[in-house]
Amino acid sequence: MEDSRQTTHGILGAAAVRAQNSRLLLNLLWKEREISRAELARRTGLSRSTVSAIVSDLLDTGLVNEARAGVSSGGRRPIMLEFQDQSSFIVGIELGATHVSCVLTDLRCKVRASWSAPVPVRDDPALALKKMTMGVGAVLDAAGVQASQLLAIGVAVPSPVDSKRPGELLPLVVPKWEGYNVATHLEESFKRPVFVDNDANLGALAELWWGAGSAAKDLAYIKVATGIGAGLIINGRIFRGSGGIAGEIGHTSIDPNGPQGICGLNGCLHLFVGTPALLRRAKDEMLASGSKRQPPASVDELVNAALDGEPSCVEVLRYTGNKLGVGIANLLNLLNPRTVVLGGGIARAGDLVLGPLHETILNLSLPASILNTEIKTTGLNQWGIALGAATLALQTALETPALFPTKSREVA
Ligand SMILES: [Zn+2]
Repeated sequence: MEDSRQTTHGILGAAAVRAQNSRLLLNLLWKEREISRAELARRTGLSRSTVSAIVSDLLDTGLVNEARAGVSSGGRRPIMLEFQDQSSFIVGIELGATHVSCVLTDLRCKVRASWSAPVPVRDDPALALKKMTMGVGAVLDAAGVQASQLLAIGVAVPSPVDSKRPGELLPLVVPKWEGYNVATHLEESFKRPVFVDNDANLGALAELWWGAGSAAKDLAYIKVATGIGAGLIINGRIFRGSGGIAGEIGHTSIDPNGPQGICGLNGCLHLFVGTPALLRRAKDEMLASGSKRQPPASVDELVNAALDGEPSCVEVLRYTGNKLGVGIANLLNLLNPRTVVLGGGIARAGDLVLGPLHETILNLSLPASILNTEIKTTGLNQWGIALGAATLALQTALETPALFPTKSREVA
């Protein structure tokens, strides 16, 4: 047996071993961008002949090219293999509660085109699906890319996602989506594989790969929007729970005697700091204070007014920080993540929210659970969640190399 990894031949079968070896090499090639065959063999522990055979397949697919000679260690200069970031492309879609956003990225998740439109997604699934198709068409056109050049499409949805029925949204959260399927709609339109996950999960994934939490393996991303959701990364993986419901921090009760939400539960966090609650509160505060300004019609306007120093809006953000702090303190006590990232439109308010949030957390978390935790706002822009959806497609393909387009023969 020339490879230690091939000792499992008898159990896995030759094809499975080859797929596993392809996956190992492809991930290293992607990570290093440029590496020699000898180095691949050294780093993976695979034999040179195994590496050569798989690399030869990868060269055929166009995923990898041979490039300039690397630095010589004395003998013949090795030929370097270069991962081709633009050998295929990915579309990432964010289906928000009130908008649809699309990005087209390369295989490094570098955004090459983007598109967004306001859509009443919760109330009009048919229109949302139509707009999604339009958005994908628009980013393909803008980047000059054909649908056939897509590796896959990733979609972030404003609902928990059950891995057994990934294209379906949870009727409890979005009742009008009963009977609609995001994944099959896109698969039929573009004939490419589609991967769906919850928006906060994908916000967390984007942070882990490209944003504030890139050094942390344990991370919580809190999406503050129409609903409130947490994406949890535990030991480098999205934690979904047994039925995809994990991270529904918006439905944790911060007041058991509080009002009842559409979810049927009492005193949920989202009833206090979801977008509708915040705008209502801002309007009430401004009326009460006799402010002459027009009450904000969106979280963006609320944050702008607060950054402008409008006292009622500053107060609403303080309130938001305090209430979010209750939910996040509980999360810290339970999970003790390394990083907590605040996302959504509210993130732009920075210290106006983070300050009061910290105050609450200091009062409600065990000191030991916050000692090593950093709480910050997202460093990614408004395309962060769509980028997370593209990242899901990339991550899935790197784990399942057969998803990558092939030119002349199968990779694995
Ligand atoms: Zn609720």
